[in-house]
Amino acid sequence: MAKVELDRLTVQFGEVAAVDGISLVLDHGEFIVLLGPSGCGKTTALRSIAGLQHASSGEIRFDGKPVTKLSPAQRNVAMVFQFVSLYPHLTVRQNVAFPLRAKGVSGREIAEKIEWIAKVFSIGDILDRYPGGLPPGSRQKAALARAVVRNPDVLLLDEPLSAVDEQYREEMRWELRHLQKKLGVTTVHVTHDQREAMSLADRVVLMRAGRIVQVGPPTALFNDPADRFAAFFIGSPGMNFVDLTLAADGLHVAADQTLRVSAPNNVLEDARAKGLNQIVLGIRPHMVELTNGVGQDMLPATLLDAALVGRDLEAQFALAGQTIKVVLPLDAEFRDKRRLRLPPAHCLFFAPDGTRLG
Ligand code: ATP
Repeated sequence: MAKVELDRLTVQFGEVAAVDGISLVLDHGEFIVLLGPSGCGKTTALRSIAGLQHASSGEIRFDGKPVTKLSPAQRNVAMVFQFVSLYPHLTVRQNVAFPLRAKGVSGREIAEKIEWIAKVFSIGDILDRYPGGLPPGSRQKAALARAVVRNPDVLLLDEPLSAVDEQYREEMRWELRHLQKKLGVTTVHVTHDQREAMSLADRVVLMRAGRIVQVGPPTALFNDPADRFAAFFIGSPGMNFVDLTLAADGLHVAADQTLRVSAPNNVLEDARAKGLNQIVLGIRPHMVELTNGVGQDMLPATLLDAALVGRDLEAQFALAGQTIKVVLPLDAEFRDKRRLRLPPAHCLFFAPDGTRLG
């Protein structure tokens, strides 16, 4: 396993900076997930680490040693695109042995390595089976075993679970995380699925337009998003955003001056110092409370719709022309509630350009 450093890495395709000067240090054995919308540069960054994509500028180092100019073969990385990519006409044993044979490893050493990896992955019982007859979870393990059997310094995974049926995906995520920790190999995983990123990563790297928006453990991105984009992209269902007006006497919902909202002093001071009279409140649907009480931060709202989503009840309310999603427990009494409470401790505030206030 290697410590991987990206130092102002830039990859330019004509006018487009697919990766735009990103710097990042991956610790030994760390599981990093590159997350972001389509076209944000995740795959290009991954391919640059693999050596499949030439860097326009900047440097990549493994354990302090520059590898930017090295070919993929010289870098000792393993890259897996999809876990279904096993050779169907070879048994699992032959599949796993394949990269070792290609490197000219002796038969005895191959046998030892297969014994080792079969133990780590608990795949001893399927070594002589063909991939076609195996359940997806076993195929995943076999494909991963093939990728890591030659002890790569870095494991690179490009949307590996995207071709897997939803019903298996969750189980495979757990298994992948478990195996990665067991192997201790530094791993970079690319996905646009925020749930996948949050459940796998030691640290998530959220990207947008070739740049890093935020890096941190999943809970840090969830609880303390760097900006409105991060707040919007992470969490399901997505964060509610409420347009507010900042007047001389305080904050109120944009379309209705009677609906007053409180915000911490540092947010108000920051907004005033920036000369803002419009700001945006963000609150996660799980944090909105329903009430019939009257008081600070309790806002009259009208129920629009409610539906069962997974194991939650999701309701939508109209608040002065803006739609607010609320996630409730299944047995919640919600039809007779007339007000929404936005607990100040769970509200975030943003400038119109999306930057955090406060
Ligand atoms: P996706 O999830 O859709 O794969 P991504 O985040 O992985 O997206 P990239 O595939 O890295 O994004 O692409 C980043 C940008 O670079 C996009 O604008 C894309 O069109 C452009 N791009 C990627 N590869 C090339 C290429 N070979 N030639 C020209 N432009 C490219």
